[in-house]
Amino acid sequence: MNNKKTLDAKVGAGTRVVWGGEQVSHPYNATQTPIVASAAYGYDDIDTWYDVALGNQPGFIYSRMSNPTVAVLEDKLCALEAAESAVAFSSGMAAISGVLHSLLACGQRVVSTRDSYGGTNKIFEEFLPRMGVEVTLCDTYDTEAIEREIARGCNVVYLETPTNPTLKVLDIRRLVAAAKRVGALVVADNTFATPLNQNPLALGVDVVVHSATKFLSGHGDVLGGIACGAETLMSKVRHYREINGAALDPFSAYLIIRGIKTLALRLRQQQASAQALAEYLCTEPLVEAVNYPGLAEHPGHAIARAQMRGFGAIVSFVLKGGMRDVAQLLPLLKYAHRAGNLGAVETIYGPARTTSHVENTLEERQALGISEGLVRISVGIEDTADLLADLRDACTVLRERQRTQPQCTAVHA
Ligand SMILES: *Cc1c(COP(=O)(O)O)cnc(C)c1O
Repeated sequence: MNNKKTLDAKVGAGTRVVWGGEQVSHPYNATQTPIVASAAYGYDDIDTWYDVALGNQPGFIYSRMSNPTVAVLEDKLCALEAAESAVAFSSGMAAISGVLHSLLACGQRVVSTRDSYGGTNKIFEEFLPRMGVEVTLCDTYDTEAIEREIARGCNVVYLETPTNPTLKVLDIRRLVAAAKRVGALVVADNTFATPLNQNPLALGVDVVVHSATKFLSGHGDVLGGIACGAETLMSKVRHYREINGAALDPFSAYLIIRGIKTLALRLRQQQASAQALAEYLCTEPLVEAVNYPGLAEHPGHAIARAQMRGFGAIVSFVLKGGMRDVAQLLPLLKYAHRAGNLGAVETIYGPARTTSHVENTLEERQALGISEGLVRISVGIEDTADLLADLRDACTVLRERQRTQPQCTAVHA
């Protein structure tokens, strides 16, 4: 009794996000995936119970192990990433840490880049070395150095592309080839690209991780994470989660399922606006640098074109006046949250020191090349013209203020 909907392999992304992973029928003929709020599942017949527990029969035992609502979300991610298997976690960091702890042991080695989400960087700098794993972080844009470190021998290569918050783009195929030469597994954080813009498994990556908190859920109202890949690897990751306990709760799973259904629609609008905002920022005198892979002059543009279907909805830029300008510009925006999240329907502005790298000290951010004048925009679904006018007006007010009160002009911070 397979209750899973089968999807024609040819259907487009907009159809896949809606129907992928869904079930054919629900209790009471409900059309929506029910939130199954039950810690455990009861069996009158002990033999059946035991069979389910051993995995010899489909079914559920205890929601730390598996839950019917969470299982639909996992199936949906399989449909989006063309993965054999997926494991959901209580947050993106739980997924990343669960995957790294499942795949690495004392005495082994991981190679990654200096640019990655701040929390991921903490796992590399603080927690993995503590359990006896050797970590080597390379300059993100020095592909030859990354290849050299991989060739020295390692067990896991960890990639994030595009990176948070500097939007650097890694050549996935090339680094996968280097990893395969030494028999290393490759893990890729696909949060910024989303499964609609990039499918790392199709480029040879072994495990894809997502913070479902971001574009997948899309409404800034839930935390979640998910890992996907071949069942041989995912069974290890699932076992780790079952025992270490960072399971996703069914209400959160329901919100993420609901959010994913509009991902294609949201992303289309968001990345059209992102391109427009990035192009405007390139002309803005207050701005020193703009990071967006959709700009022809972006150093990763050609690779992004080759491995992505769209350039995503995150833009970052550096204000010449550093933190002083950031502190003055952000309050002038009318249609934006100033917050630490990204990927929601509302536009969100935030500096790295209170968002992606809030876990790091000033010295650590400097060592990672994260400028204090860096602002990340998570572009929302508002009308492009309104977002452009809002940013342009805010910049105009700030420039005017600096012209009339030059003492307010900050030195580089
Ligand atoms: C937010 C984020 C994470 C962490 O996800 P949480 O759901 O906040 O734990 C990991 N990687 C990237 C790229 C992110 O943006």
